[in-house]
Amino acid sequence: MDLLKKKIQDEGKVLSESVLKVDSFLNHQIDPILMQKIGEEFAARFADAGITKILTIESSGIAPATMTGLVLGVPVIFARKRKSLTLTDHLYSAEVYSFTKKETSEISVSKDFITSDDVVLMMDDFLANGQAALGLLSIAEQAKAKVAGVGIVIEKGFQNGSSQIRERGFNVESLAIIESLADGQVTFKEEVVS
Ligand code: 5GP
Repeated sequence: MDLLKKKIQDEGKVLSESVLKVDSFLNHQIDPILMQKIGEEFAARFADAGITKILTIESSGIAPATMTGLVLGVPVIFARKRKSLTLTDHLYSAEVYSFTKKETSEISVSKDFITSDDVVLMMDDFLANGQAALGLLSIAEQAKAKVAGVGIVIEKGFQNGSSQIRERGFNVESLAIIESLADGQVTFKEEVVS
């Protein structure tokens, strides 16, 4: 998605060879127009998948997921990283090791919101080693929901998340795939135009 790639080139900050900071439009301040376009793009890519719910993880997955849910006309659920007082049992949960925080947390979703009748699209802001996405897939599996695929805003193609998810037979759609963050530069993977 060219608009997203341009935004990453213009505003992204390469923190190391493996971490990109995009605080100005996705991870802290949010660019609503860009999020709207991202929502339209995901909705088009998964138009024929029969999606009934979108499942993401707090907090940075919420904006792109909500915009996608708006276009597809389906609810958006975000897995919680911390148990709230009102979310105690009756939960699906999974352990997720955070690439950026270097700690394991338990994510959870109320059993009220995903059922075996659902066709779920998983979404997240970044795909690195795939831990967050695999945690979401585990929750969908526990609910016996059908998985439509995984929608990622920024995939770091040099890490192994996407191959891990594809190996399990799921379709991964990433709007920008970064090939390298070497030398402080963002290099994108060339898209094959068919
Ligand atoms: P994974 O679970 O695939 O290893 O990592 C994905 C999660 O880690 C995302 O939810 C995202 O919040 C965070 N993350 C991974 N890599 C980056 C990165 O380069 N930049 C930012 N801002 N977040 C990242």
